[in-house]
Amino acid sequence: MGLDAHSQNDVKQRPPIIDMHMHIGAPLDLSAGAPAPCLPQPCMRKGQATATASENLKKTLEAMDRYNIVKGFLSDLDLNQLREWSEAAPGRFIISPFIVEPGKTSPDALRPALKAKRLAGIGEIGSQLIGIAPNDPRLDPYFALAEEFNVPVLIHTEGIGPPLPTFRSAAGSPILLEAVMVRHPKLRIFVENTGYPYLDEMIAMMYQYPQLYGDLSTITWIIPPSAFYDYLQRLIQAGLGKRLMFGSDQMRWPEMIGKGIEAIEEADFLTEEQKRDILYNNAVRFLQLDKKN
Ligand SMILES: [Zn+2]
Repeated sequence: MGLDAHSQNDVKQRPPIIDMHMHIGAPLDLSAGAPAPCLPQPCMRKGQATATASENLKKTLEAMDRYNIVKGFLSDLDLNQLREWSEAAPGRFIISPFIVEPGKTSPDALRPALKAKRLAGIGEIGSQLIGIAPNDPRLDPYFALAEEFNVPVLIHTEGIGPPLPTFRSAAGSPILLEAVMVRHPKLRIFVENTGYPYLDEMIAMMYQYPQLYGDLSTITWIIPPSAFYDYLQRLIQAGLGKRLMFGSDQMRWPEMIGKGIEAIEEADFLTEEQKRDILYNNAVRFLQLDKKN
């Protein structure tokens, strides 16, 4: 009983967090308890996959309560399940369609939901999973749509991804974002894992295009902590601490939400202010939450 009272106090005292990278994990065909992936092989896999979509939702909301996550950028292929999650926790999620194959979800079909604010983002654009680079003209209508409705875009542009035969690291160089930034100067776009491990390319893009942000998501738990901290420290040394945002990318392992947050909190080279920026303040600015009522 004493312990319970103590942990409830902890919840109250935790400052707010925004998770910029959440999924429902619907398309993942996993047996209950399957561990989460890790890199590089061979490595120790952690976590236990939830058994059902409803268990995933329940445990995700529990983690959000425990860590005081006030908003989550939630994307998935299954628009019906996205609606279910949104209804289960009104105001808690920013709902956004996951896009892999350009044209499969037609940009025009998304328009009414964007207009009605049922959708409030575009992406994760995960076309790199099938070898399509961000500057491919087939993705252009999605960027135009995001610009038109002034909604944020999450894109998977980096060196690593799921072990699919169609995934291409070469299609993930952040330099390939330049054509997108030039064509869509008002686009508010953030890159999964801040382009890991393409550090120099990502720094160049972020210096050149101030509207470009990066998340610290899967790399908070999927790669060795030494590799994550090395990358984060170099981004901070480059002066980019105001442009990085936490995300859990938890998919079907809700315990990764806490692991990701703790990885940021335990970074001994970050000041308290830098931690708050990554966990909350930068996302407030990027999402323009300070401008809305
Ligand atoms: Zn993702």
